[in-house]
Amino acid sequence: MHVLVKGAGVAGLSVAHELTSRGARVTVLDPQSGGRAAASWFAGGMLAPYCERESAEQAVVELGLGAADWWEAALPGSVTHNGTLVLAPVRDVRELERFGSRTSEFEWANEDTVATLEPDLAGRFRKGLFFKDEAHLDPRHVLISLAAKLAAAGVAFETDPVRTATAGFDWTVQCTGYSRDDQTIRGVRGEMLILRTSDIALSRPVRLVHPRFPIYVVPRADHTFMVGATMIESDSAGPITVRSMMELLNAAYSLHPAFGEAEIVETGVGIRPAYPDNLPRVVREGKTISINGLYRHGFLLAPAMAMLVADMILNERRATR
Ligand SMILES: Cc1cc2nc3c(=O)[nH]c(=O)nc-3n(C[C@H](O)[C@H](O)[C@H](O)COP(=O)(O)OP(=O)(O)OC[C@H]3O[C@@H](n4cnc5c(N)ncnc54)[C@H](O)[C@@H]3O)c2cc1C
Repeated sequence: MHVLVKGAGVAGLSVAHELTSRGARVTVLDPQSGGRAAASWFAGGMLAPYCERESAEQAVVELGLGAADWWEAALPGSVTHNGTLVLAPVRDVRELERFGSRTSEFEWANEDTVATLEPDLAGRFRKGLFFKDEAHLDPRHVLISLAAKLAAAGVAFETDPVRTATAGFDWTVQCTGYSRDDQTIRGVRGEMLILRTSDIALSRPVRLVHPRFPIYVVPRADHTFMVGATMIESDSAGPITVRSMMELLNAAYSLHPAFGEAEIVETGVGIRPAYPDNLPRVVREGKTISINGLYRHGFLLAPAMAMLVADMILNERRATR
């Protein structure tokens, strides 16, 4: 059983891992070696099924519930289980009630709780929602570590489609993300920043309710923070706009003025692949299966999609034996 996985974003690497760990031989093809143009590279890495319910269907919650455990089993130590804190400036406190009415599995946090959870935010917010069962990871660390683990387990990584075209695979799994060639899928532009400052520390992703799109700050190693993300109905991968940069920086600054002195280490843009209903799809045509439409939930939903596809491929092998 030899499977060709096209695409080395989070979907492709997750399915390669699931297949390899169940004994299949896998080759991964991605012309963009290193995956730094992939949407996955720019993600926040929040594994936040309950918070996402604010704007997503219940299916996203159900498919995402096992994600943190899957990542932890695949890459021990990669997941931080500190929950998510959702906050609002005093003028937007009503937005918190709206957020709470659309979600579940949270506790209301008062000023003291916020200070206990995030001491550097003490005195800055009177009310919040704490989703204690959520988690986060560093997408870049995970993508690099997963590729290294797969390579060590014998997975071949190819960048040249010509070399794989004649190799005679039993199955192909397409995990190619957004493509202008696929009329069924649309691109949703997400702009993000990486800031660095040692003047503030956070233990978990902090979301600020926002009338247009959820803005969040995710702590990473080395005093860096990912600030994201815009949601723009466009597949333009051009540089971040001034408006988006101002909105993201304003959000970080309103979370804590120490971000005013932070270094802007990077700006980035990723194109999220989305179907019209914003839900992921696994589609089979003969011996080709595609996983796509992970939209804003790639790290949250890729494990469930990978398990489903591995079941489809390996159960069929069992049935035909
Ligand atoms: C700013 C931002 C923040 C986000 N935050 C989060 C978050 O906090 N949590 C979360 O769960 N999700 C988040 N997401 C969503 C997540 O990043 C995406 O859902 C996910 O990356 C999609 O993964 P993918 O593997 O389908 O596509 P991609 O990551 O785009 O990977 C597709 C890969 O396929 C390759 N490819 C393309 N064509 C071919 C071909 N013909 N042959 C072979 N390879 C090909 C490409 O080079 C690319 O490497 C965020 C996204 C953005 C942009």
